[in-house]
Amino acid sequence: MTEAAPDIAANLARIRARIAAAASACGRDPATITLVAVSKTKPAAAVAAALAAGQMVFGENRVQEAAEKFPALRAAHPGLRLHLIGGLQTNKARDAVRLADVIETLDRPRLADALAAAFDKESRHPDLMIEINTGDEAQKSGIPRDQADRFIEACQTRFGARLRGLMCVPPHEADPAPHFAWLAARARAHGLPELSMGMSADFEIAIAHGATAVRVGSAIFGAR
Ligand SMILES: *Cc1c(COP(=O)(O)O)cnc(C)c1O
Repeated sequence: MTEAAPDIAANLARIRARIAAAASACGRDPATITLVAVSKTKPAAAVAAALAAGQMVFGENRVQEAAEKFPALRAAHPGLRLHLIGGLQTNKARDAVRLADVIETLDRPRLADALAAAFDKESRHPDLMIEINTGDEAQKSGIPRDQADRFIEACQTRFGARLRGLMCVPPHEADPAPHFAWLAARARAHGLPELSMGMSADFEIAIAHGATAVRVGSAIFGAR
């Protein structure tokens, strides 16, 4: 059975309206919140439909998939911005640096080394965010909570203002609010301006806690 194709333009309009409402509910300017449309597993045609509806910022989990979909789209849409939001292997760092505008999943010293080397080789410098494993879940990427402060400081020293902020994916079944609040407090403590948090199910809660980027996939492109 095939499901009806999602109306991507209508879904985007709905999500943008919900972002605006959530922002004004807590006295924030919606223009300070970036919608990252997460297109993982979806075909390039779905991304093209979102572009046609004015969406310019996309998120992908896998370097390989991003490399297949995005170079052609980027050539046609120079303003397109791509965020890599999935756990990154060090041997993919160079491809990631070539493809991405923002790498959200810097989460360990060896990856910081690999990215720094890739910046030099590629002469390209995507913005970086540090992913923190706020639930300290064994299977998840992200630096553990108790190592976060030291790692953030080391990355600020190394990457300067290229290190833009923090990112998290709270445990699936948990109340996300304490995770978002904790992440926001760490960003404040380190003077980092950006917070990537909130997905289809919880982006309004994330906005209430200060998210500057929300990563929304299924609510735009349909279930995966
Ligand atoms: C898939 C994914 C999203 C989007 O999830 P939805 O629930 O489909 O909105 C956001 N962030 C990360 C890191 C993801 O892997």
